[in-house]
Amino acid sequence: MEHDFELETLAIRTGIHRSQFNEHSEALYLTSSFVFDSAAQAAARFCGEEPGNIYSRFTNPTVSAFQERLAALEGVETCVATASGMSAILSCVMGLLAGGDHIVASQSIFGSTVQLFGNILKRFGVDTTFVPATDLAAWRAAVRPNTRLFFLETPSNPLTEVCDIAAVAEIAHQAGAWLAVDNCFCTPVLQRPLDLGADIVIHSATKYLDGQGRVLGGAVLGSRQLMEGVYGFLRTAGPTLSAFNAWLILKGLETLAIRMEAHSRSALALARWLEQQPRVERVFYPGLPSHPQHGVAMAQQKSGGGIVSFEVRGGKEAAWRVVDGCRMLSITANLGDTKTTITHPATTTHGRITPEQRAAAGIGDGLLRVAVGLEAVADIQADLKRGLA
Ligand SMILES: *Cc1c(COP(=O)(O)O)cnc(C)c1O
Repeated sequence: MEHDFELETLAIRTGIHRSQFNEHSEALYLTSSFVFDSAAQAAARFCGEEPGNIYSRFTNPTVSAFQERLAALEGVETCVATASGMSAILSCVMGLLAGGDHIVASQSIFGSTVQLFGNILKRFGVDTTFVPATDLAAWRAAVRPNTRLFFLETPSNPLTEVCDIAAVAEIAHQAGAWLAVDNCFCTPVLQRPLDLGADIVIHSATKYLDGQGRVLGGAVLGSRQLMEGVYGFLRTAGPTLSAFNAWLILKGLETLAIRMEAHSRSALALARWLEQQPRVERVFYPGLPSHPQHGVAMAQQKSGGGIVSFEVRGGKEAAWRVVDGCRMLSITANLGDTKTTITHPATTTHGRITPEQRAAAGIGDGLLRVAVGLEAVADIQADLKRGLA
């Protein structure tokens, strides 16, 4: 029945299992374990003969409700909720790969993901080749006989490069590998990677899914069969989503569709305005016709999303003037919040890489990233205008 509902409805009505009290709003089950009626039932639960909750590291009804709801939104069988976005990525690779396997990943992915793949997994014999997200020939050329996983993020952070999901999925499948997409920036409201051929979707629920900058959370989604290994790792190793966080994020999902549309609408208005500012050299936003992958973006995304980056003339000094001129915008690297945030990537999120690596990644000293929140666009513009004057 739920498959007849539109996404906006699924986000509100999926995963509701009322208790004996018939509560209207989803209950929060804060309990570490669950009680059995008898020794026989305990045995049946533990050996998997009887479905049901045992211990909240394995399953919890509030977490299950969140998993059901997010799975419905991504249009996929199974969701495994995790403690954070990073533990979602870790659970995905630990559940599906083994020492000796190889990953092909786009270069411009989240910094901690680069560290996880490039340094930590490497110690366990899993090698990663990083390729430019938009260069399909590079994806193809990076394939080795032991390649098991392709991994990408689109649009990328902070330059909003858009990677053609369907084209990369085809290359992955020809290589006998799975494609995992970190769908954090778009959420299923704007982009559904599995519909485009991806096998796995990853989320940092910390961002738009919660939507109010309150808690950490994450998720891995895919077919029941693929998620078996991921869940097996989670259940044993324990990077489980807390019930409290699941309950908050469940509430966040109810307004996800209207929030994403509003973030996108404001971001487009801000991007257009920034393009008119004489002190702005260049604006990066997938919803602008000037964006190099505007066509692919508009084919695979419903709209441009909430992240706008721009290069100001005058390098670091000029960029810092804009940041320090802000009275309302929050100077923080987080995104997906109702509150607009501003970051100077070259000295924060990308500050630890060498200037040469930054230049190769296209991250200039004058680059600023704005994660557009839900305040009035005029107020966001007024805040930025001070430093751009
Ligand atoms: C924030 C983020 C992550 C990591 O998520 P956490 O919840 O902070 O662990 C992964 N990918 C992207 C694109 C992100 O923005």
